[in-house]
Amino acid sequence: MSNIVALVGRPNVGKSTLFNRMLKKRQAIVDSVAGVTRDRHYGKSDWNGREFTVIDTGGYIEGSDDAFEGEIRKQVELAIEEATVILFVVDNQIGLTDMDKEVSRLLQKTDKPVLLVVNKVETNKNRLDAVEFYELGFERYYTISAMDGSGTGDLLDAAISHFSPEVHVDKFEGLPKFTIAGRPNAGKSTFTNALLGVDRNIVTDIAGTTRDSIETIYNKFGQEFVLIDTAGMRKKRNVEEDLEFYSVMRAVRAIEDSDVVLLMLDAQRGIESQDMKIFQLAQKNRKGLVILVNKWDLVEKDSYTMNEFEDQIKRKISPFTDIPILFISALTKQRIFKAVELAMRVYENRNRRIKTSELIDVMIPIINATPPPAVRGKYIKIKYATQLPTKTPQFAFFANFPQHVKEPYKRFIENQIRERFDFSGVPIQVHFRKK
Ligand code: GDP
Ligand code: GDP
Repeated sequence: MSNIVALVGRPNVGKSTLFNRMLKKRQAIVDSVAGVTRDRHYGKSDWNGREFTVIDTGGYIEGSDDAFEGEIRKQVELAIEEATVILFVVDNQIGLTDMDKEVSRLLQKTDKPVLLVVNKVETNKNRLDAVEFYELGFERYYTISAMDGSGTGDLLDAAISHFSPEVHVDKFEGLPKFTIAGRPNAGKSTFTNALLGVDRNIVTDIAGTTRDSIETIYNKFGQEFVLIDTAGMRKKRNVEEDLEFYSVMRAVRAIEDSDVVLLMLDAQRGIESQDMKIFQLAQKNRKGLVILVNKWDLVEKDSYTMNEFEDQIKRKISPFTDIPILFISALTKQRIFKAVELAMRVYENRNRRIKTSELIDVMIPIINATPPPAVRGKYIKIKYATQLPTKTPQFAFFANFPQHVKEPYKRFIENQIRERFDFSGVPIQVHFRKK
């Protein structure tokens, strides 16, 4: 599971400015979870090769101090629970306030590293003003300008120095990792338990790094794999939106750590917006995907039902159609091993490497028969293609005028690849390059 850096502090100190500065330009995920009182954001970042997740715990409600106190307490408590490192941001232009002192007091409860960040320091003169923050009792502070970026390098150096030495769950290195995700009550834990109950070959049962996600190593079909169940994330909490936020966060991290996502739907509800969110996360992170329609035992069936269901799902996820959909019942154990088989197949597809000679033999005749449309009298010629040595399937086609190859043709090529080779459940990328 990845390291988490959480930004806390009173409103207007510059948390979201700092958040935006820390995010990777071409990051895989930027998302926000709308709350009743605020939006919260999380995103991916890296510094000196260490990847981490940044959480901006967001703005607060304007209103009474009482409401504010409650809000800030929750925010700090959650940051303490979830973060690897906490950045406590204060505002040098305004100076030390009572609210800062209150936040500071709340942060004293944790053993986790808390770095005091004095923001809005753009000049040396400003830097001297910052000394008043020593009153908060921190050994040192970091002066930065979130706006122009100065000081942020030293701050990030300090932040990552608190990360654990290994970023990833190396105990599972080399094993296929499957994450079961889906809305609460879809049947994720029933599914996990069903596999667990039937399968006598369990090697280990290790509680997750993250308290509430359960990682289990299975040994099945002579193949070992890790199953990550995010089901336990429904912990009782009084605040719905915090629950929602952190359950999404956990699912995000579990998905990032896995190879294949088993998206579990409830057959009685169909595909819903939360499911679409997981779907998009899997796509954005280029993970393999299998859709499991669970509780199939509860559906009154006639001969069309399955097709109708499939059509409904395919319409929702279009244009991604090459994704396996399986109807299961975790309760009666119907097709649960088939689900594992499918996940394995998608895992293999994701690692599939097509030999250059084979790719050329198959694809060049197709291209010759249906070349890209000529642009302003220029014929586009493609003579060579190869699969790139990337972690997930990517293909390069070499052309005289690659810039003139348009989206519809790329899609055509992708579909042709999918028809000839098995990449079902796996995102693939097609690039056109100058030969
Ligand atoms: P948040 O409520 O803590 O998320 O604060 P914001 O990031 O929204 O920033 C509040 C205000 O402070 C905005 O007007 C920002 O433009 C400004 N601000 C943020 N960082 C800096 C900084 O480093 N220097 C200066 N001068 N202004 C900043
Ligand atoms: P989770 O929140 O996704 O982990 O869902 P659970 O595994 O806790 O299941 C939620 C409820 O749905 C429980 O009452 C399960 O017994 C029930 N359930 C799960 N799978 C099935 C199924 O295939 N058929 C039926 N009828 N009920 C199921």
